Amino acid sequence: GKGKKLAKSAARVIRQHAVLGAGIMGGGIAYQGAINGVPTVMRDIAQPALDLGLNEASKILVKGMERGKVDAKKMATTLNNITPTLDLKAIANADLVIEAVVENPKVKAAVLKEAEDTVSEDAIICSNTSTISIDLLAESLRKPERFCGMHFFNPVHKMPLVEVIRGKATSDATIAAVVSATLKMGKTPIVVNDCPGFLVNRVLFPYFAGFSKLVIDGADFTAIDKVMEKVFGWPMGPAYLLDVVGMDTAEHAAGVMSNGIPQRMQKIDNDPVTLLYSSSRLGQKNAKGFYNYG
Ligand code: NAD
Repeated sequence: GKGKKLAKSAARVIRQHAVLGAGIMGGGIAYQGAINGVPTVMRDIAQPALDLGLNEASKILVKGMERGKVDAKKMATTLNNITPTLDLKAIANADLVIEAVVENPKVKAAVLKEAEDTVSEDAIICSNTSTISIDLLAESLRKPERFCGMHFFNPVHKMPLVEVIRGKATSDATIAAVVSATLKMGKTPIVVNDCPGFLVNRVLFPYFAGFSKLVIDGADFTAIDKVMEKVFGWPMGPAYLLDVVGMDTAEHAAGVMSNGIPQRMQKIDNDPVTLLYSSSRLGQKNAKGFYNYG
């Protein structure tokens, strides 16, 4: 049966990661493997971007040292586990490729294809996409059975969950290998099917929609945040969370879901998220959203 097949296929060991894209997410994903002992090649197309990714990883380590959770040796071995590079060939020996380049289907398709042409025939390839269909991205690969989504959350080192997204063509062996790599990275995997919003955003966005409707009805967003924090135990309320996520990202993800599953996620007229987005109040990334920062 399926369980037996999974157990048998779980033998694929992941010894080396390659992270494509050294942005916020790529830097965090490289760090997360490296601190858990996995040598990681981090590839980007521009040196300043690579520097940012490495900087992201070292910032997390420095914070860890300040809190006494990381010592100098751990810092050194972790940084030593990360090999930043501009050279695509450097990913050739990776067992697991995690693509974390810009959220653009064309760019991702090209990056996935060149990665597949560079790694070995049985290497696993994943995308950290937040909103692009895994089945669509799989079309760019010769062997889509070795491909799935591996969706980390921001900030990677703090957020415990990873969505492992199974496409139509994804094999059980691929899922088993990615689940075990996720565990090795100290994260909790949940395996979900490919659909607009995957599972996490399918759970989260109805809350955002309810929040928006209350604001339209005249509720004070700071009061809603207080309720969600004090009564329901959210670490932050929806307005603050939207500021963290960014109005551009939230608007984009909501659009993907309302287009893909319109019967479930209706567009809201005068959505405050849309209004903030169109007046360039993007949230923490530009210091103004629902709240003002800095
Ligand atoms: P980012 O803009 O910070 O980083 C993207 C990086 O990709 C840049 O460094 C860029 O130089 C690099 N890049 C572009 N083209 C490339 C190529 N051809 N080869 C190699 N590198 C290339 O973006 P991010 O916020 O880290 O997001 C990356 C991915 O992760 C996106 O798919 C996004 O949807 C997803 N994601 C983001 C978040 C988040 O909160 N930021 C959360 C979960 C998932």
